[in-house]
Amino acid sequence: MPTIADTARKVQSGEITSESLVQASLGRIEATKGLNAYISVLAESALEQARATDKRVAAGEKLGPLAGIPVAVKDNIVYSKGRTTCGSRILEKFESPYDATALARLVAAGAIPVGKTNMDEFAMGATSETSAFGAPKNPLDPGVIAGGSSGGSAVAVASGTVRVSLGSDTGGSIRQPAACCGIVGVKPTYGRVSRYGLVAYASSLDQIGAFSENVADSALLLNAISGWDAQDSTSSQAVVPDFTASLNKGVQGKVIGMPKECFGAGLQPEVRAHVLAALDKLEKAGAVIREVSLPSFEFAVPAYYVIATAEASANLSRYDGVRYTTRAQDVTDLFSLYAKTRSQGFGWEVKKRILLGTYVLSSGFYDAYYLQAQKVRRLLTDDFNQAFTGCDVVVTPTMPTLPPKVGEVFTDPMAMYLGDIYTVALNLAGLPGISQPVGQVGKLSVGLQFIGKAFAEEELFQVAAALEHSLNPSDASGVRPQSRRIGDEKAP
Ligand code: GLN
Repeated sequence: MPTIADTARKVQSGEITSESLVQASLGRIEATKGLNAYISVLAESALEQARATDKRVAAGEKLGPLAGIPVAVKDNIVYSKGRTTCGSRILEKFESPYDATALARLVAAGAIPVGKTNMDEFAMGATSETSAFGAPKNPLDPGVIAGGSSGGSAVAVASGTVRVSLGSDTGGSIRQPAACCGIVGVKPTYGRVSRYGLVAYASSLDQIGAFSENVADSALLLNAISGWDAQDSTSSQAVVPDFTASLNKGVQGKVIGMPKECFGAGLQPEVRAHVLAALDKLEKAGAVIREVSLPSFEFAVPAYYVIATAEASANLSRYDGVRYTTRAQDVTDLFSLYAKTRSQGFGWEVKKRILLGTYVLSSGFYDAYYLQAQKVRRLLTDDFNQAFTGCDVVVTPTMPTLPPKVGEVFTDPMAMYLGDIYTVALNLAGLPGISQPVGQVGKLSVGLQFIGKAFAEEELFQVAAALEHSLNPSDASGVRPQSRRIGDEKAP
């Protein structure tokens, strides 16, 4: 089975054209329209870019490692073509005058954006159901959620419209939909990828990352978008190694830490069974599984929802009806302009979080909530540092349960927030994480999450690739066999 690197090489050699890849992708997007993965499709600009790519190949130019590959992009990553809505009415008609750095780098590497994907409004949620444009559907089973907030980007890959896509992850928004849709999703270390042009939700937690069908493709995509950017003062100057360099090195002697706090009550038995079975395979491949402890783990969700909403309440104050798009009519003065625009433009989950965030930052409550949450954040980071003195990577399930039924989580908001239990801790600590499929229960997929040391993505990919290979030993490339890929001989 080819990886996107193989396909890009074929484009470079002239064996296949980028135009045929983009056309196959657009055809598949049309055929799977009912899944609602895309908010907008960029057919015209994509075909134009594909033809230009093919011309450059014909002229003998050397293109980048993603030459001619169609990609889908979450609709909170700004692009100078088409609209960037963030899944919200308040930005329904917003057109960005510039490109996000990560997206510009992807395009510079040869990739071709074919569409902007559906998402929870302003990336607030874990199901994509708060999108103002209707929820995307899970291709494995439309009766369960696709996960969120980058649900559209996950569905775009899982339904074969593209082989790779970009998402953003503030507390699990790449890893959870990857788990729900049975694909790979990676959130890099905080600072690894520039946030310039990523519409801010919670700036100290947000990172752009990748979705793909296999580990190798995520590694390649992440390489293309990583590295320091003068436009983002929080982007890191750390050297970006070749994330694909260790994919075939196996796990002999690697120590995998299992936090005892992550495998107890609240974990659905089927999920636990698949995660443990996967770890058994990894042990047979030479890894050492060792128990570790994250004593502050149980406080991660409350701390996350204080910090994330506090930052969101500040970040979202810019949507005032004066700048950006939607503006309420029938206003009498400046205050009613603000109030009406925001009342009409934001959905209920966003409003709830702005209120919560404003509350935890207000004088009198600041110390009790915001300051306290920051202390928990410090403790969690210390816990991870301590755990990593005894292991190379940490393992947890990605989600405590199988993907819930559509609409179900809103009957119990606490249960919804608790669904983030395994994913938010590493955003608070700034660490990288990857979710990969490790088994199926009926039609549904189970995700396993590896957490790496800061800036140790190469090692994270190495371990994930070894597990992928252990689970699919018949495929030498470690790629899951599928027939729905774009760029395959059997492209749809
Ligand atoms: N589910 C989490 C939230 O609602 C995470 C979202 C995200 O990572 N963007 O905040």
